[in-house]
Amino acid sequence: MTSLPPIEQFRSSTGARIYRIPVEAFPQFIAYCYLIFDAGPITLVDTGSGYGNSNEYLLAGIRAVHDDFGEPFQVGDIQRILITHGHIDHFGGVDFMVEQTGAQVGIHPIDRRVLTAYEERVIVATKDLRVYLERAGVKPELRGALMEMYGFSKKHVRSVPVDITLKTGTPLDGMRFFHTPGHCPGQVCILLGDVFLSADHVLSRTTPHQAPESITHYTGLGHYMESLAQVRLIGGVRVALGGHEDPIYDMYSRIEEIFASHRRKLERVLDIIRAADAPITISDMSKAMYPDKQGYEILMALEEVGAHVEYLYEHGEIAVRNLDEVEREDNPALRYGVE
Ligand SMILES: [Zn+2]
Ligand SMILES: [Zn+2]
Repeated sequence: MTSLPPIEQFRSSTGARIYRIPVEAFPQFIAYCYLIFDAGPITLVDTGSGYGNSNEYLLAGIRAVHDDFGEPFQVGDIQRILITHGHIDHFGGVDFMVEQTGAQVGIHPIDRRVLTAYEERVIVATKDLRVYLERAGVKPELRGALMEMYGFSKKHVRSVPVDITLKTGTPLDGMRFFHTPGHCPGQVCILLGDVFLSADHVLSRTTPHQAPESITHYTGLGHYMESLAQVRLIGGVRVALGGHEDPIYDMYSRIEEIFASHRRKLERVLDIIRAADAPITISDMSKAMYPDKQGYEILMALEEVGAHVEYLYEHGEIAVRNLDEVEREDNPALRYGVE
């Protein structure tokens, strides 16, 4: 197995002990799960992807919390599994961990069906993505390749029942939940005293990935920036621990950097549209903005650009210029111009 960052212990001002456990969710892609003691029953936050060796890493990490940090417990003592959001690198191992522990599972209501009716979500989400890629003007050959890549990691997951609902304003054993839609519809962050589990809402290096709401309701840049503004108002966060990357010791300035990054991307998209000879598709904007992307990253770029185009369109800064075609044909590419 690949060598991963060490397990780290964090102590919250409530006295809870929080262990950060790395897993290799996908090749070369590390995700963090958190094991929490002294905030009610022993609680695991997120479960890795369930893909490849992810489950083995997680189990080994949990055992190391016992062996190396002297926490007197066994895997079977974990009574709660909280899922921060319905992305596979965070919940893919949930059925395995439920099997190992018999724990109750919690998630935000909007992402609940990702866990309880996984097959339905995959089929519907795949269709919505296909429609989006057509509308973005992606050529059929690339579209087929991207859809295949999208589907590959999603075959191994089984649905599980959900017992606990994570909602803003409904605390649980000292944990406060904040619904922060944007990166994912049911994204939840968890505040435990002065420690903030920021999941994929705030990350230390990467600006969390955005996709347009036209693919999935309750995502989109508008929701994301509102959620970011909401988190900025939470006082007293000493350290934010994300679902990936490093601990963030100044979350408030990191939030400002993320805002600035999106403002730059919005400007960049506007510049690309202005510079084009004719009204332009999201696919062409994406190529201009991210010319070097390969493989799965092309899909990520198409979603990221689409989220910014959607935001500009919602705010009346750009317009659809090929209305005749849109009216006449099934699902043609939309072509944008600056308003
Ligand atoms: Zn995510
Ligand atoms: Zn993630």
